[in-house]
Amino acid sequence: MHIPDAKPRIAISACLLGNPVRFNGGHKQSSLCSDVLARHVAFVPLCPEVAIGLGTPREPIRLVGAPENPRARGTVRSELDVTDALAAYGRQMATQLDDISGFILMQKSPSCGMERVKVYAANGHTQPGGGSGVFAQALMQACPDLPVEEDGRLNDAVLRENFLTRVYAHADWQRLRQAGLSRRAIVDFHSRYKYQLMASNPLQYKVLGRLVAQLAEHSLEEFAPQYFSQLMQALKKPATRGTHCNVLLHLSGYLKDALGAEDRREMRHLIDQYRAGVIPLVVPLTLLKHHFRRHPDHYVARQAYMQPHPETLSLRNGI
Ligand code: SF4
Repeated sequence: MHIPDAKPRIAISACLLGNPVRFNGGHKQSSLCSDVLARHVAFVPLCPEVAIGLGTPREPIRLVGAPENPRARGTVRSELDVTDALAAYGRQMATQLDDISGFILMQKSPSCGMERVKVYAANGHTQPGGGSGVFAQALMQACPDLPVEEDGRLNDAVLRENFLTRVYAHADWQRLRQAGLSRRAIVDFHSRYKYQLMASNPLQYKVLGRLVAQLAEHSLEEFAPQYFSQLMQALKKPATRGTHCNVLLHLSGYLKDALGAEDRREMRHLIDQYRAGVIPLVVPLTLLKHHFRRHPDHYVARQAYMQPHPETLSLRNGI
């Protein structure tokens, strides 16, 4: 069975790990990050505001102007404008941190917030929809394939599972690149992600299948980044109970000759119960894995879908 191996490196807003770097000298420690994820990933903490030379404690900053392109200015001294420094640091980190597989950002921050950060108009009112923190926006623009999430959104079990699935897929691809890309390695990689893609994004599953079928017509240098970018975009879409059920039924199909009628009925019953929201995904998957242990299938065993992230993270207990 495919087991994600080395710990992926994830950059994180330093205040989420309990570092006292906020404007008031405090932190925003996240127990999910500090207590749970820290056991499975290697965190790379950074604080953009400290990095550009603002001390701690410091005058708070806020976003002002157009929500799509705001300025980060001081709340006391409006002439203090750190927009360019924060954006430059975002671009610098995008290049420098070339071994990370994800980024966890602090929500609502004018520097780190991913979305819906308050943006103030000239009259002092906040504007509908808000914007992105300046550092976060520069980083996301420079690294469109990097899995990025906010700590707050990670409290949602579906978003958490989706983010970590993407993180481990990103790390998997980085290992492949380090080992040396070849046409064969890409086809093999894609075949391992077949059912994960089918669960996340059935439409893009077909599009990517057609793309990989044309691999021989392209140069490797041109094809590989294009493929990876499309894969990461496709995996952004969280799988639903319906798409998971579709994959579970496909995978059960590999057992149809090995299982008796009663085992098949039990499998089908658990998939139906999962579809109805009575039990979590881990239940039908555990039975499926049990049957595949007794009746191994090489192709299924290599599927990322069977274990896209470490079992001890228990991410499929909550979805
Ligand atoms: S949100 Fe970002 S800039 Fe603010 S304290 Fe945390 S790491 Fe630093």
